[in-house]
Amino acid sequence: MEMAHSKFDVVVIGAGPGGCTFAILAAQAGLRVGLVEKELFPRFRIGESLLPENVPLLKRLGLFETVSNSAQKKPGAVFSNQNTDFSRRISFANAFEAKAPHAFQVDRELFDQQMLDRAIEAGVQVFQPWSAGSVIKEEDRVVGVEIRNGAEKQILSSHVLVDATGRSVYLGKQLGKITRDPVLNQVSTFAYFDRITYLPISEQGDIEIIQTDTAWIWVIPLRPDKISVGAVWTKDQIQNRPADMTEMYESVLAGSAMVQARLAGAKRITPTQTVADFSYDVDPKYGHGWVTVGDAAAFVDPVFSSGVFLTTLSAERAFDLALPFLHSGQSPPIHVWASYERWLKKGLKGFKQYIYGYYTPGFKKVFYSDPPFNFLKRAVASNLAGNVFEPAWWVRCCTAFFWFNIGRENKKIQKMIEEEAT
Ligand SMILES: Cc1cc2nc3c(=O)[nH]c(=O)nc-3n(C[C@H](O)[C@H](O)[C@H](O)COP(=O)(O)OP(=O)(O)OC[C@H]3O[C@@H](n4cnc5c(N)ncnc54)[C@H](O)[C@@H]3O)c2cc1C
Repeated sequence: MEMAHSKFDVVVIGAGPGGCTFAILAAQAGLRVGLVEKELFPRFRIGESLLPENVPLLKRLGLFETVSNSAQKKPGAVFSNQNTDFSRRISFANAFEAKAPHAFQVDRELFDQQMLDRAIEAGVQVFQPWSAGSVIKEEDRVVGVEIRNGAEKQILSSHVLVDATGRSVYLGKQLGKITRDPVLNQVSTFAYFDRITYLPISEQGDIEIIQTDTAWIWVIPLRPDKISVGAVWTKDQIQNRPADMTEMYESVLAGSAMVQARLAGAKRITPTQTVADFSYDVDPKYGHGWVTVGDAAAFVDPVFSSGVFLTTLSAERAFDLALPFLHSGQSPPIHVWASYERWLKKGLKGFKQYIYGYYTPGFKKVFYSDPPFNFLKRAVASNLAGNVFEPAWWVRCCTAFFWFNIGRENKKIQKMIEEEAT
């Protein structure tokens, strides 16, 4: 029997935020779009705290009202240090070049469903629960993909195959190489609680990141009765403690007075879940007829909530660059994807500076203290709101000063360690 064969302008694999962003934009532009998703929705995903720079894109996708009506507004972020009892709040409304005064905290089961519903409404043909199998090539060009649902198989062909499969890294595994991050090697355990008590400096909806001796902990209010609480350790910290991860999680929460204060009277309402080895880069991120977006291209670390932001903006950028070619029925040439990759690397680099920085003692010293000037606060808030691709020159100057101070502190601490060792 001959296999069914459907032709599209664009085929997207994976209906998370990255895949839906590309699919919705392409359908809105009048292209024929196929979207393949292996799981039935609603399905769980971690990654709930968005950034303000997501807001203009949500508007472009026709999702702002829907998300606004259902999600918790996130006006800022509080960073607390258990050791010094210091808390510092970043207000997004105060950020230089703010694109929006707030972001959202989203329940991913609902948010991803809303995105998929919007894709269907925009005219995307969804294959669910279908799984992408091997790619179909003509010489070195990807021209389609074989998809399966149990024993049933189909072929989808397109001018571009978009890999938005998240940490499954579907095309990266077949056509590229995955490199684990050379610095970060983290493990995270998380669960949900039914109540939050905010710190007096917090505003309702703020995320809080609490640094303890052994881990950092996120507290994300999704609704008044659903609070996401996750702990992140380096692998070394886990190796030294053989207890199981739920025990380890309970013990790190119990050992932090700050976490205990936020969770006063709260009870855990779900089992714990654990993920590990989530920091990696995929190379190459594109080839003839294919491109990767979101976590299928790279993921660094959750500490500054950059995941869904970089995912959705990478999908938007890849789409915008490809559109003129797709409109005229062509596969975008390789230089288009090279330019996309340069742009994405810039954003990744912007966040990597903060993420790698966060795990150094100098960063903690500078970050967990009141900045001497308000402009420093506003510039750092600007970067952390997502302004990492094209910050204005004065934002770059202010953050250069911030990084200079951190570099100086790190050198001082290194010198002290060396002196103590001799
Ligand atoms: C511990 C932790 C905490 C995090 N916290 C945050 C946070 O607070 N804020 C934030 O912004 N980000 C956070 N992230 C990152 C966030 O989870 C991801 O960046 C985001 O979910 C990536 O979206 P995506 O669309 O690329 O992939 P996903 O959301 O994973 O979607 C990929 C989809 O592809 C489908 N798929 C996979 N393989 C196939 C196949 N072969 N065929 C068909 N379909 C397939 C999957 O079923 C899935 O639905 C966190 C990550 C971790 C590890």
